[in-house]
Amino acid sequence: MNIETKIKETIQKNKLCNKKEKILVALSGGKDSTVTAYLLKKFGYKIEGFHINLGMGDYSEKCLEAVKKLCGELRIKLHVYDIKKEMGSSMCYLRSAIQSRKSLKNCAICGVIKKWILNKEARKLKADKIATGHNLDDEAQTFLMNIFKGSPELSANSGAITRNISDKKFIPRIKPLFYVLENDVREYSKKEKLPVIYDKCPCAIDSYRIQVRKFVDGLSNEEKMNIIKNMDKMLGSQRDDSSKDDSGEPKIEKKETKINYCEVCGEPSRNEVCKKCELMGVNS
Ligand code: AMP
Ligand code: ZN
Repeated sequence: MNIETKIKETIQKNKLCNKKEKILVALSGGKDSTVTAYLLKKFGYKIEGFHINLGMGDYSEKCLEAVKKLCGELRIKLHVYDIKKEMGSSMCYLRSAIQSRKSLKNCAICGVIKKWILNKEARKLKADKIATGHNLDDEAQTFLMNIFKGSPELSANSGAITRNISDKKFIPRIKPLFYVLENDVREYSKKEKLPVIYDKCPCAIDSYRIQVRKFVDGLSNEEKMNIIKNMDKMLGSQRDDSSKDDSGEPKIEKKETKINYCEVCGEPSRNEVCKKCELMGVNS
C-alpha cells in the first residue's frame, strides 16, 4: 500500500479528524511533520502550521526557513512561537537550568516543554486537533523504551489519536503517520521535493534512545510493524471496551485519565502541578 493510501486509511479507521475541523500541524522543519502537512492539505483538510522557534542558533534558523517555505508553497497560515521572546530564554538555556537541578535527558525536557506550548497555543487558536509527524519507527522506539523501563502503562494514552483523555482544555493530538515506516516518509519527502531539513537536532544526544533506535533500525519492516500491532492489541482500540485481548490476556488497563488543572499555570495535568512547571520550578 502506498503512503498516501495508508495515511488516508489511518485517518478514516481511527477517526483522526474531519474536514470541518481546524487542525494545527506542529511543524519542526523535519521530513515527518512536513509530509504530514503536505498530505493533510492535499486531502482537503483545514490546516494551519505551528512552529516553535527553539532559538538554537543556525539549526533553528534553517528549520524556520524551511517551515516558512513549506507554508508559502501550501498557502497555509503559519504561527511562529518564539521561545526566547515568550519564555525568556532559548531551549538550550532552559534545559541547562533544569539539568542543574534534575538529572534528565535533553529530549525528555524538550518534549515536555513543546507539548505544553502546543496545547496552550492550539487552544488559544481554537484548533480542534494538533497533528504531529510521529512515524511508526518513533512510536515503536517509545513503546519499547517504556517496556524496557518496566512501565508499559506509560504508553496508555498513545496511539494514532490520544486515547482516554477528554477535557475541554486538552486538545487531542493526532499522528497521521503512525503506521508509516520512517524510510517511506523520507523517500516520499524526497520524491515530492519538499523543503525539509534532514539534519538531526544537535541536542538529540539521549544515549538510551539512540541505542533503542539502533536496535529498531536493525529490525525488518515486518518486525517493526508487529511492534505497533502488538501495542494496539494491548491498548485496545478507541471503540473497543473489552478488557481482554484476542488471546484472553488482560490488556493494559484502559481507564479514562483523570485531568486536573495545574496549580501554577492552569494547563491540564495528571497531577496538581504539570510536568513543565515541575521541571521549571513552581515560581516560573
Ligand atoms: P521530535 O520529538 O523532535 O521527534 O518531534 C516529534 C514531532 O513534534 C514532530 O514531528 C513535529 O510534529 C513536532 N515538533 C518537533 N519540534 C517542533 C518544533 N520546533 N515546532 C513545532 N513542532 C515540533
Ligand atoms: Zn503548569
